[in-house]
This record gives sequence, C-alpha cells and structure tokens, in this order.
Amino acid sequence: MPTAEIIAIGTELLLGETADTNTRTLARVLRSLGIDLYRAQTIGDNAERISDTVHQALERADIVITTGGLGPTVDDPTRQAIAECVGVPLEFHPELWEQITARISRYGRSPTENQKRQAYIPKNAIVIENPVGTAPAFIVRVPFTKQSGKETERGGKIIVSLPGVPREMETLMSSAIVPYLQKAFDLHSVLKIRTLHVSGLGEGIIDDKIGDLETLVNPTVGLTAHSGVVDVRIAAKADTESEAGRMISIVETDLRSRLGDDICGTDDDTLERVTLEAVARRGWTLACFEINLQGALLKRFAQTGHAAYRGGRISEVQTETLADGTKSALEEFQASSGVGVSYSQEDEKQDIRILLVTPQREAEHALTYGGHPGNARRWAVNMALDILRRSALEAG
Ligand code: AMP
Ligand code: MG
Repeated sequence: MPTAEIIAIGTELLLGETADTNTRTLARVLRSLGIDLYRAQTIGDNAERISDTVHQALERADIVITTGGLGPTVDDPTRQAIAECVGVPLEFHPELWEQITARISRYGRSPTENQKRQAYIPKNAIVIENPVGTAPAFIVRVPFTKQSGKETERGGKIIVSLPGVPREMETLMSSAIVPYLQKAFDLHSVLKIRTLHVSGLGEGIIDDKIGDLETLVNPTVGLTAHSGVVDVRIAAKADTESEAGRMISIVETDLRSRLGDDICGTDDDTLERVTLEAVARRGWTLACFEINLQGALLKRFAQTGHAAYRGGRISEVQTETLADGTKSALEEFQASSGVGVSYSQEDEKQDIRILLVTPQREAEHALTYGGHPGNARRWAVNMALDILRRSALEAG
C-alpha cells in the first residue's frame, strides 16, 4: 500500500488568516483510495523551506501532495521549490501560456507579465491543465538520483502539486490525480468506515472496555469524544467493499457485545433522533423545559422534526422550579412524558440538573460538569438525552 504526506503551503495558513480545508479534503480522498496518510504539514511561502520539507517527506512517503503557492505572484514559490528539490530547471510551456491568456481574456483583461510564471513547470513534469482557474497543477516523478555517492531512497516517488483555491484543488484532484494514482500504484482497495455513537459514558470508561481493540491494525478502531457522545470509528481496508464490510461487522459484533445499550446509534444517526425514536416506540410523546440553556435543548429536539416531540418551554433564569416548569410544559403541549434540564455556574462549579417525567416514574439527576463552560450546555443536553433514551429503552 503506498504512503502519502500532505504539505499545505501558504503564509496565510500560518498566520491563522485562512483555515486549511485542503488537507482535510485531500485526507478523505486518500483514505477512499486506500492510501495511507502518515503526516500532514503546513509551511509558509518560502521556497527553501518548501523544498526542504518536500525533500524530507520524500524520504518517508511514496506520494507527496502539495497545495498552494502556484499563483502568479512572487510569493507563490511552489514551482521553484519543487524544481530545486528534484534538481531540475523550470521549463516554459507555450501551450499553457496560451490557455492562461485565453482564460484571462474571458474576464476582459489582458495577462500581465508576472502571470507568465504560471506557465513555467519543472522539467519533465506531467502538466495538469486547469479548466477552472489559471494555475496549472503538475506531477513530478522523482528520478533516481545519487547523493554523496549512494542511491537515495527517493527514486520512483511522486510529487503532486495542486493549486490552493479549494474548488480548483478538488476538481484537479478528482479529475486527474486520482485516476493517475490509481493507475500508477495499481490501487483497487477500498476503505470503509463505520461509526458507532456511544452516549452517557466517558471516554476513559469506553477505553477501558475496548482498549485492546484499539490496537488492531485492520480494521482499526479509534475514539473521538464530543461532549458526552463518543464516536467509535471502525475503518477497514480491503480489495472489495463487501470484504471491508465483512471485516467491519466482525469487530462491530465484538464492540456491541461489550458496549450494549451504551451504543445509541451508527453513522448518520443523531442522539436526539434515536432518543425520540425510543420515546415513540414506547408510545410516549415528549415535552421539554430548560433553564439557562440558551435554547440548546429545544433546538436539538425541534431540528429532528420528529412527531413524538410536542414542544418546549424556555426559562433564561430560574423563575420557577425545574419540576414546575417541566410539568407545565407537559400540560401545555399535552405530552405523556417530559424532560427538564437546568444549568448553573457559580465560581468554578457547574451544576446540571435533569428531571425526567415518564408515565411510570419521575426521577431527578444532579450532575456536575468539569470541562470548559463553552461546552457545558451541549454536554448537559447530551446527558439529558441519554438519560431519557435509556429510560425509554428500559421501560416496559
Ligand atoms: P495559492 O495557490 O497559494 O495562491 O492559494 C490561493 C488561495 O487559496 C489562497 O488565497 C487561500 O485563500 C486558498 N488556500 C490556499 N491554501 C489553502 C488550504 N490549504 N486550505 C484552504 N484554502 C487554501
Ligand atoms: Mg498562496
């Protein structure tokens, strides 16, 4: 399996002016091709540092992909840097210059002399014309070179340089680079991802239960925490979609036997939707009440558009008790069950109270949150949803 590294180029990225979305896009494309991405870096518009970075990446990876630095201005140094890195000159391509001129004239402008820079490409590179912009991309197959008398590791490797504008980068990647890589590396493997959402358990407890699976090599199992919901991601690489699916289902069965009802959903499921589905399966309807949650609870329910959710009430400050507020929501919306959540912060202490009223019982939970206040409301809502989901599952 070939390995790749990504190098995002642009001083604006290092200054925090522009968010690097290209790395994320490229990472996903590589993953879908079954190419292992081991490292991604960001580097400013400096030819020497780019050249060094690409040079080092080539020592490790089979494919080095750069984005950015292909514009027409002096501070777009990628062409020069790559040429220096592989020890070739830049070569003028009259046919590219013609296309660039034609494209610019469609804007009713005439090309400036510096735009000619974009028609210079490292010698022997494969030119990828850009149908959506002026910066052409290119592929350099790194020749076997001798350094200090011995053959380096770099021969037969590939550098792909793509423009920085996300649309242009994506278009060229999917139309030209993906087919090229598939052919060059005889790629036919697929990577399939399955995500199990676990709610109500901390990352540490989950890790305790499934830690041994997290060391598997294929499929791999990884955790990502999001304030009260943890995603357990299973990723399998195989020659066919169905083989990857079979490998995933073996690990999924194992995970399910360990986590059981802690797993609230998969892939595109949301906690609020699966919770309302559990409520509906019981034949219940739901109303809610929140104190000092800035609409977080109501919004989550309302977004689902689920028929079991009847409506909710908001109180920005504690003017009535959680029990009174929840019960009047139940009456107002004529629901058979209700959930009330309050959040309060005093000094360092963040208190969350959750009241659950179901046709069978009434229960209040007091929780404290220890994380960043900016995440507290989301966490509180996730905990309340999980408590409601579990009681709907258990009731009977
Ligand atoms: P460049 O090819 O370096 O001239 O980049 C053109 C424009 O694309 C920049 O001004 C940025 O707005 C955008 N851009 C460059 N690199 C990235 C990146 N890694 N992620 C998202 N946008 C980018
Ligand atoms: Mg740039």
